[in-house]
Amino acid sequence: MNNELNLLSNISDIFSKIKYGENFTEEVSAILKAHIDSSELNIYIYDKSTNSLRNFSKSWVVIDEKNEDRHSKEVYNAFKNFGDNKFILNEQGYKSLDSEMKLQKNNTLLFPLIKNAKHYGIMELNFENSSNLTSEFITAIQVLCTEISLIIQNKILYEKMEKNVDFHDAMKNIAKIIETQYELNYIIPLIGEMIDKFIIEHLIYIFLKSEDGTKYNLVWPLACRDKKILNALPRLEEEQGYFLTDQDRIGIFPLTGEDNKILGCIVAHSNIDKLNIKEIEYLDQLTKQAAATITRANIYAEVLKHATLDALTGINNRHQFEVRLKQEVAASMRQNIPLCAIMLDIDFFKSVNDTYGHAAGDTVLKEVSAIIKNSLRESDIPSRYGGEEFAIMLPFTRLEEAYGVAQRLRAAVEQHEIDISEVSDFDKLNVTVSIGVSEFDRKITGEELFRRADKALYSAKTHGRNKVVIYSK
Ligand code: GH3
Ligand code: MG
Ligand code: MG
Repeated sequence: MNNELNLLSNISDIFSKIKYGENFTEEVSAILKAHIDSSELNIYIYDKSTNSLRNFSKSWVVIDEKNEDRHSKEVYNAFKNFGDNKFILNEQGYKSLDSEMKLQKNNTLLFPLIKNAKHYGIMELNFENSSNLTSEFITAIQVLCTEISLIIQNKILYEKMEKNVDFHDAMKNIAKIIETQYELNYIIPLIGEMIDKFIIEHLIYIFLKSEDGTKYNLVWPLACRDKKILNALPRLEEEQGYFLTDQDRIGIFPLTGEDNKILGCIVAHSNIDKLNIKEIEYLDQLTKQAAATITRANIYAEVLKHATLDALTGINNRHQFEVRLKQEVAASMRQNIPLCAIMLDIDFFKSVNDTYGHAAGDTVLKEVSAIIKNSLRESDIPSRYGGEEFAIMLPFTRLEEAYGVAQRLRAAVEQHEIDISEVSDFDKLNVTVSIGVSEFDRKITGEELFRRADKALYSAKTHGRNKVVIYSK
């Protein structure tokens, strides 16, 4: 009896150390192996929604009625027939276990995991040689089962809670993104990454319908070669809401805009398994939230078509930049006055977003814009060229002077501490910018002028950032 007590006390010892959320089957296996020479321990939990058993110890591998392998089939049947019995599984199938029964070689012992008088899972112990296994040991293992049951219940509950918290975070994030954002090519990757982070087990794709409504273009990630998905997309027009295909491994969720117009879809593809009910529910909700975000962005973009200022920073937007560039180039040619260009890009801005959050990123953009505005003369024309890039026209300015302005800007940004305490858990941060400078001459266009500044900017990036570089051929 000592040995059995030893087993129980060793296992209790492990249990007391286990934190919820940690997988403990390996440690329990090792102890069982030491005491009763069992070769393998598996714990399965029943999943009502798919009528299958999932292997808790082996990343939730599935066993269901359709399983080909004989052993899995028998474990599944044993679970279905448990009632009040415990089973031994051998070559002849399974039979009810009483403590007197001696195991033969290559046997499997199956015990129900019970909660509220119902069995919700199964514990499987395999033996290559079971001569050590006394009836006392079997009783000890039954006691063990009760404890394992409790721990698993806690773990499942804990994971559910964690998942719910993550889910609400994801939803909130998607809703928050576009308070000031309206560029789909900025919003879509954020949505993609967010869903991807949340539904880790599957591949996620986002498609948007082309403007003429004839086809679906993949917008996130870069490639989708999956013919099954591409062929299924046209079905979106016929279905009401989402649908599943490829034996429920692929879920296609419509992004529905105003008047039930289909804007595109989010696709989840599982390589291993059916999508389960919970995942489908989550994806359905996330897609609805994403659709609302995209719809708002579209309306916003429509309204802003006639705007000249960028909504976030209050300086000229890209469209106004193009308008002003034409005017300035024409004036420079006509009156023979100098004109210079500055392209400025914030260094490592992506990691600002990643580390401090997008709200902090937005604050940085506003502050850098303010520094630019305050450092320039009345006649200078700053614009937000895109994301975190700024284009500045400097009429009446020669190259050397423009270089001086650029250096002043660079230093001003470097020295400015940006307060982000209102929008994040952090206090302050500093950023730097890289700058390219070029000068207009009669032989080039306005476009070429900024292409040259951009080329110099690129060179500033590759030479260490936080630098000003003048264009040279
Ligand atoms: P580099 O030093 O080479 O310029 O690196 P980087 O990280 O700044 O460059 P990258 O172009 O990879 O990243 C630009 C990031 O700017 C990616 C995009 O998510 C972010 N971004 C673009 N527009 C906005 C915006 O309006 N707000 C915020 N918060 N981020 C934006
Ligand atoms: Mg950058
Ligand atoms: Mg950039």
